[in-house]
Amino acid sequence: MSIEELVRRDGEKITPENLEEYRRSWAKVLGRMPKNSEIWPFIEDEEIKEMYKTRSVRTESGVAPFAVMMKPHYCPGNCVYCPLEQGMPKSYLSDEPAAQRAKKLKFDSRLQVEMRLKQLEETGHVTDKIDLIVIGGTFSAYPDDYKLEFFKGMFDGVNGFVSDSLESAQKFNESGKRRIVGISVETRPDWVTEQEIILWRKMGVTKVQLGVQAFDEQILRKIERGHDLDAVGEATRMCRNAGIKICYHFMPNLPGSSPEKDMEMARVMFADPRFQPDYLKVYPAMVIPDTELFNMWKRGEYESYTEEDLKKVLKEVKRLTPKWCRIDRLVRDISKQWVSSGTLRTNMRQQLQEELKKEGKKCLCIRCREVRAGIYDAKVELKMDERETLGGKELFMSYENDENLFSMLRLRLPDKGEKMLFPELVGAAIIREVHTYGQVKDLQGQALQEGKSQHRGLGKRLMAKAEEIAKERGYEKMAVISAIGTREYYKKLGYALEGEYMVIDLSE
Ligand code: SF4
Ligand SMILES: [Zn+2]
Repeated sequence: MSIEELVRRDGEKITPENLEEYRRSWAKVLGRMPKNSEIWPFIEDEEIKEMYKTRSVRTESGVAPFAVMMKPHYCPGNCVYCPLEQGMPKSYLSDEPAAQRAKKLKFDSRLQVEMRLKQLEETGHVTDKIDLIVIGGTFSAYPDDYKLEFFKGMFDGVNGFVSDSLESAQKFNESGKRRIVGISVETRPDWVTEQEIILWRKMGVTKVQLGVQAFDEQILRKIERGHDLDAVGEATRMCRNAGIKICYHFMPNLPGSSPEKDMEMARVMFADPRFQPDYLKVYPAMVIPDTELFNMWKRGEYESYTEEDLKKVLKEVKRLTPKWCRIDRLVRDISKQWVSSGTLRTNMRQQLQEELKKEGKKCLCIRCREVRAGIYDAKVELKMDERETLGGKELFMSYENDENLFSMLRLRLPDKGEKMLFPELVGAAIIREVHTYGQVKDLQGQALQEGKSQHRGLGKRLMAKAEEIAKERGYEKMAVISAIGTREYYKKLGYALEGEYMVIDLSE
C-alpha cells in the first residue's frame, strides 16, 4: 500500500492523541518511517494536518499524555449503548491503538508505559513530563490490590526500574529524570466514594473522568445508567473539595433525547451548580452490534440524528462552553466496522470550526484558546471568574489577551462546614490546577527559558494572587493537589508535603 492509501484508510480515526501511533503502524507496512511531510498532504482534518506539519503535537501543551489500559474486568453498569468485546474492558474496542498495545502486552502496566516511552523517544519527543490516562471500564470496580499493583507498574515503567513498593516508586519519581505530572482515572459517579477518593490520592490521581452522558433523569433511566443526577453532583462536590480535576463524558443523541433536548442539557451541565465540569468529552451515541441500543434501533425505537442535526448540537455545545472548560474531545474515534448507525467523524471538527466562523460564533473553551508552542510578545491581562458550585466557590484565574490563553489557575474555596476527606485540607483553600501553555522544555532548560521569556513566571504570579485571595477570605492555608512529579516545583515556592498535598501556611 502507498502512503496515500494508508493515510486515507485510517484518516478518520486519527486524533491528536494517537497520530504518532498511526505513523508507526504505517511504518510497519511501508518498511520505513514515513516523514510527516509525506503524510500531511493526505490528511483532511485541518487540525491534524497542522500537527503533522509542525510536528510538535504531543508536547505542545507542555506534557506528553498517554493512555494505559487495565485488564478486562466486570463493570457494574448496564448502559444500553455500551459495547462489550471479548477480551477487552467494557466499552473499549480492540482496534483502538492503546487497546491494541495493551492487549499485546497482556495489560501489563509497566510494559505498556515502557513501550509507549520508547515509541515517543524514537519519534523525537521529549518525555520528561508525563500525563497518564488510565482507561478501562469502571476504575472503582476493580479490586484495590489490582489498582495499586497497576499503579506501581506505571511508576516503575516511568522510573525505568522496579521498586519495592508503590511508595518508594513514587518517592523516586519526585526527582526522577521523567516525572509523572498528572494521572487520570475513569469511573461512574455512583462509584465515587470517600474511601475511593482517599485511595486515589494515595496513588497519585489528579483528575477523574466521570461518565455522566445525560443531564436528565428520564434519559438516565432510559439508558439504564443506574444512577441519578444527584449522584453526579455529589461525586463532583467530593472531587472538587479534594482538589481533583473533573472531566465529564456527555453523549448526545441518546434514546429519549432530541437535538433540542441535547442543547438544553448542555446548558444545564454548564449552569447547574452541581455540575460545571473542568473538562468535557462529547461522544455522540453510536449504534454498535450486540448492545441494547442496537436492538432498540432494529426494532425501530431509536434513530441516529442526521449529520445536520448532529452538527447543530455540537456547534451549540461549543458555543455554550464557558471559558473555564476545556473540550478535550468532540467525537469518539471508532472505526466504521463497528458502527451500524451514527455519524462517523470524517472531518467533523474542521467542518464545525468553519461553520461557526461563518456564523460569526466562536468556541471559547480552553483548548481553542490555549496558546501554541513558542514565546510571545503579546500583552496579557489578569482575568478572574468566580462562581458558586455545590460545596464551595470556584475561582478561575487566567492571563489572557483577546485571542489566547497563556496561563490559568483553578482555585477551590470550600464552603465552611464542608466535610474534608483529608486532615491537611481542613481550613484550606485548594489549587486544583495551574497551567502555563507553551512548548515543553526539559526541566533544567525550562528555568533558563523562563528568564528570557516575556511571560516569565505567569504561573507563579497566579499562585501568589490565589494565596492573597484565599487569605483575604479567611483560609488559613493553601493546599495544592500536586502530581507526584510536580512536588519539587511547589517546594521551591515554599510549599511542603503534608499528607497527600503540598501545603503552605497563610497565617503569617
Ligand atoms: S458504566 Fe461505563 S463501562 Fe460500564 S456499562 Fe456503563 S458506559 Fe459501559
Ligand atoms: Zn473549544
